Amino acid sequence: MADVVPEGPQGPPPSEAPASPGPALAVFAHPDDAEISAGGTLARWVDEGREVHLLVLTNGDRGSDDPSVDRAELARTGLTETEDAARLLGLASTTVLGTHDGELENTPQVRAAIALVVRRVRPSTVLTCDPTAWFFGNRYFNHSDHRTAGAVTLDAIYPGAGNPHFFTEQLAEGLATWNVPEVWMGWTLEPSHYQDITGFMDVKLKALAEHRSQVQGGLFGFFEEWLPTEAEENGRRIGVQHAEAFRVLTLD
Ligand SMILES: [Zn+2]
Repeated sequence: MADVVPEGPQGPPPSEAPASPGPALAVFAHPDDAEISAGGTLARWVDEGREVHLLVLTNGDRGSDDPSVDRAELARTGLTETEDAARLLGLASTTVLGTHDGELENTPQVRAAIALVVRRVRPSTVLTCDPTAWFFGNRYFNHSDHRTAGAVTLDAIYPGAGNPHFFTEQLAEGLATWNVPEVWMGWTLEPSHYQDITGFMDVKLKALAEHRSQVQGGLFGFFEEWLPTEAEENGRRIGVQHAEAFRVLTLD
């Protein structure tokens, strides 16, 4: 669902954290979250030659205010739109789980599903959202699925994907454990890194526009105005035109 965060993240002065080489895996709750939160960064990583994968934890089947919309149809539409946006961004793979929108929980099953992709992709960077971010200013509180997506992703990484006693059936199938060295979290109140996305604002917006069911009724106009404004505010912090804000953890 297209979520509205009216104010940009506030936080301490930025520190520079260079992007690691190697594959990256983005894990978000809803079909359009990755584009809104980190579309410029994902596009930049692809441009730099990194293999970038996307895992969406819910099928977005409540991403509409129209009571007459069929939820199964909405999920099918969301999948098509996610694949179209991924193609535009140049992503290497897209996986969408069948969890119902609004019902994402931090369970062993969801952690196993994330660990499975982590063990397949063996990412040097996992990008998700900050599970501690509840209140953005006084006009918005963060969607439960977003907070849960961040928490379940962190918990799938540690203790999880790197430990041979977790999800052992995956190891029996030939996969190996994987310790994720770096985690980036968007939609954060405590950014530690501002990623320069100058030159990638257009592709971020074009990828978001592929989520046609989510940006209809003038909502894309809102994003087209708000996202560049937010990126310009972040960019000013590091002296570039556009940037996205992240809390970055280095785990090794
Ligand atoms: Zn969302």
